[in-house]
Amino acid sequence: MNILGIESTAHTFGVGIITDSGDVLANVKDSFTSTAAGMIPDQVAQHHREVAETVLAQALSSAKMDWNDIAFLAYSAGPGLDPCLWAGYHYAKLWAGQHQKKIVGVNHCCAHLSIGKIWNKLRDPCYLYVSGVNTQIIVQEDNKYHVLGETLDIGLGNMLDKLGRILGLGFPAGPKIEQLAKQGKYLQLPYAVKGMDVSFSGILTKVQQLYEQQKVSAEDICFSVQEVCFAMCTEVVERAMANTGKQELLLVGGVGANQRLCEMLQIMCQERGAAFYQVPLDLAGDQGAMIAWEGFLRKEESGDVEIKPHWRADDV
Ligand code: AMP
Ligand code: MG
Repeated sequence: MNILGIESTAHTFGVGIITDSGDVLANVKDSFTSTAAGMIPDQVAQHHREVAETVLAQALSSAKMDWNDIAFLAYSAGPGLDPCLWAGYHYAKLWAGQHQKKIVGVNHCCAHLSIGKIWNKLRDPCYLYVSGVNTQIIVQEDNKYHVLGETLDIGLGNMLDKLGRILGLGFPAGPKIEQLAKQGKYLQLPYAVKGMDVSFSGILTKVQQLYEQQKVSAEDICFSVQEVCFAMCTEVVERAMANTGKQELLLVGGVGANQRLCEMLQIMCQERGAAFYQVPLDLAGDQGAMIAWEGFLRKEESGDVEIKPHWRADDV
């Protein structure tokens, strides 16, 4: 059985095709970028409408398939930006109607977790999910996800992108911050861990002041922000693993591309005799293959659920 998945929650419009054993046959995406500011939801949704048919055609062609080979269609129902979710839902309904297929709405966060789990063939990991909007430490018990810790304000990726706006780096800023950080040295910043939760907005305010009023270099800011924010996440993840006894850590979400974050988590896992796992770059960020796989896992319980902009992994 082959499943086609549509991703559209934020910057990326993607179409992926996966088999029922988790082999990715196609994973094509087109992401909104901007040299000016961040994401303006209506502009991003317009981007998705402009690229949708091309992305679909490329996905089918790279899998050497047509609609007869597709069992059903999964789409990302949330969480995400309303206009972007509506754009994805529109194409899910349109293509399903044209080709008489069932549609299965899935949770985007759960899709990040489950594609990482199948790719690494894991049994029972603790997840660190760090994307644009989300920063969550998650475990699964009795087939239900539990969020053990999370950001109290903005997601780590959004924080980096907001910093990028202050420094004039364009969007997305994460990769540029990672490069600049290599030339930076450490500045004292607030360290904001509260129980099992983290908070990033105070750090952002602090570095904005340092940059604009004290003319501290962008390199030093990028280095220090990475060191502090990644250490905060590592601390909370370690506590989650200690409390739950999990022996596998899986890092998912776009910020997971950051090598310094991986290095810190790797060291922490090594020191506690646990194993650290990542997902390959093409499956780490937003894309359609993970939506297709989550659709396969949820095909009995889900269906046309329209859109759910604030849908949490622990509400699934
Ligand atoms: P996602 O929402 O999962 O697609 O992740 C997108 C977020 O990942 C954006 O906020 C990016 O700035 C961030 N990101 C991408 N690459 C990197 C990187 N190398 N280091 C830090 N953040 C990154
Ligand atoms: Mg995502």
